[in-house]
Amino acid sequence: MFAATSRPVRTRFAPSPTGYLHIGGARTALYSWAYARHHGGTFILRIEDTDIERSTPEAVRAIFEGMHWLGLEHDEGPFFQMQRMERYKAVIADMLDQGTAYHCYASPAELDAMREAQRARGEKPRYDGRWRPEAGKQLPSPPAGVAPVVRFKNPAAGLVAWDDLVKGRIAIDNAELDDLVIARNDGTPTYNFCVCVDDWDMRISHVIRGDDHVNNTPRQINILRALGAEIPHYAHLSMILGDDGQKLSKRHGAVSVTQYDEDGYLPEAVVNYLARLGWSHGDDEIFSRRQFVEWFDLDHITPSAAQFNTDKLRWLNAHYLKQSDDAALAARMAAQLARRGVDAESGAALGALCGLYKDRVATLNELADAIEAFFVDVPIAPALRDEHLGEAARAALGVLRAKLADCAWERAALSAAIKATCKESGLKMPQVAIPLRVALLGQPQSPSIDAVLEAMDRSRVLARLDRVL
Ligand code: GLU
Repeated sequence: MFAATSRPVRTRFAPSPTGYLHIGGARTALYSWAYARHHGGTFILRIEDTDIERSTPEAVRAIFEGMHWLGLEHDEGPFFQMQRMERYKAVIADMLDQGTAYHCYASPAELDAMREAQRARGEKPRYDGRWRPEAGKQLPSPPAGVAPVVRFKNPAAGLVAWDDLVKGRIAIDNAELDDLVIARNDGTPTYNFCVCVDDWDMRISHVIRGDDHVNNTPRQINILRALGAEIPHYAHLSMILGDDGQKLSKRHGAVSVTQYDEDGYLPEAVVNYLARLGWSHGDDEIFSRRQFVEWFDLDHITPSAAQFNTDKLRWLNAHYLKQSDDAALAARMAAQLARRGVDAESGAALGALCGLYKDRVATLNELADAIEAFFVDVPIAPALRDEHLGEAARAALGVLRAKLADCAWERAALSAAIKATCKESGLKMPQVAIPLRVALLGQPQSPSIDAVLEAMDRSRVLARLDRVL
């Protein structure tokens, strides 16, 4: 029943380097990568840098960095369209020879006048084919001194259709399509044309991209046909909306992949999140990259727009943080604290602190905030001081300080010292533990207080108690 195609799976991610790698692009890259990996195929990175006004080397770097951070390594490329100009020009020359493209000498003013007249007649403005060669048609003679553009000779009739792997069948009447300019009058090829030559040369089997390109697809299919290329399968991904249902933009906070890195998200959390943003495998929410590759297909992509949900990303990130190895987190924390100018060499063992806090935070930055208080004296807010450090509490902390001055520095002994303090002061556990937290960390909540004490060295604990006594 199913005609097995022998065509090897080859996908590509083809960003235009005009800004950072945003979340939508990252999802496209992830799906293209995963589809290739799932099928043991090839994933190609292609930089579509022909818009020389808007393309920048910084954006190219940001794309590489983002891809690397997400772990989306390519097998071929990166190819740069600007380095392939000669190839595009050679294909255009062949098309002119074969009659699938033609020179058009209509000037911009002439085209404006043509469209104006069409509008005046109540017609849809379009190129009227005045330079299009047809059998038996007499073309005007080329005006002297005018450099022509090259137009693609789009089929005049019939439908151009494809079975979009996300959106289903899409069919467009060729009569709706103008003869596209494929080379400007200075000879430079235009965007849609370069994409076709690349997809052809790179033997792309599946084009997975944003649905802002749906309108380009019929034109590209026609050009690919004219080139004698095998037509790839197309999968157009719906856009990503912000939490509020509006198109995702900077307004919604971090939209660049590297910004998520800076904000303390783990790449495995972002990959897991993006995997689910528009694709599903039953009710599975948490899965590894390997599992994702094993499961990924194009049949379970939702055709409707996906909605970004920061809370869910935070939830996943919290999950992956909790799963992280303490030593690995400690290394990241040391680097992060160093960037904040905090010397994490001294005092508390970072690994133990990461272990204490990793299931209480959602991001690496929150983890660093929590841990920083072990190294840098945090001020105690006056309201907390008034609420928790009254006379009775301070008296109890004084009792405790004496015990901590020479007790063994391990949890059991520290816990015993706190209990004995409660007993001697006639106070309940929270009446001592909460003031102690405020004195040590400037806040009334923390992980188990004996563990906090153990993680902070004795001299620092005593010094911090002294500042409130
Ligand atoms: N360069 C295009 C973009 O960044 C993608 C083109 C394609 O995937 O065909 O939107």
